[in-house]
Amino acid sequence: MEATEKALVLRVGRFREADAWVRLLTPSHGVFTAFAFGGLRSRRRFLGCLDPLNLVLFSITSDKRGAYQRLTEGTLLNGFQALKRNKALVGQAVNCIKFIEAIEPGADDGRIAFGLLVDLLETLADQQPEGDLFPLLFRARLIFTMGFTPDFLSCSRCGAVLNGVGKVLFSVESGQVTCSACKSDNKAVDGLARPVTVGALRALDWIMRSSPAQWSGVGMSADVRSQIFELIEFFVAYHLGLQWEGRNYKKV
Ligand SMILES: [Zn+2]
Repeated sequence: MEATEKALVLRVGRFREADAWVRLLTPSHGVFTAFAFGGLRSRRRFLGCLDPLNLVLFSITSDKRGAYQRLTEGTLLNGFQALKRNKALVGQAVNCIKFIEAIEPGADDGRIAFGLLVDLLETLADQQPEGDLFPLLFRARLIFTMGFTPDFLSCSRCGAVLNGVGKVLFSVESGQVTCSACKSDNKAVDGLARPVTVGALRALDWIMRSSPAQWSGVGMSADVRSQIFELIEFFVAYHLGLQWEGRNYKKV
């Protein structure tokens, strides 16, 4: 790799006296680790860059054998200072970063993940939203737009637009929905299927089409919220083999 690229700093660690490793998310390479040799001493080359939740323009180069990536210099583009002064907002941002680190978007999904995370940090900094819904909305928006975008509004069998108060079935494997008429015809639904209300599916559809700038002030009933939380957990466990355990995702 020989590139100058915008990157979000996810985590920074020290090794030896003055060297740092940096976990990064970039649009074209997704999540990866690079080294900033002398980075903790060289104020000139990395002025204010090597902190989590920074948007930085980095010069990145591979070592001679291509075994690791090296940061040669950086220019801080946005430190999201208004966000970092608010502990509750930092907590929500860190929660979203843990999700990104767990699912590790690669080159294919890097652009989606990077764009969404930049939008999220800008919105948290500019709008200082109340409440704590952003991590849930972020997870839903990211996981259901990476790879494929489910149709949450119509039945995958008969094509009917979903309505009513009863529960329908969401296939965690295929991301397809089966209406209550079709689900009672006893044909098996692919993979793990979860009962879910049409209201929760409408909320998911809106989340998929929205951007973080539209999320401030969004309300959600406790029931819809817990259904969406559960669907994301099943989806991530099924497709990525990851389970949320207290404070981090673990391979299951
Ligand atoms: Zn149907």
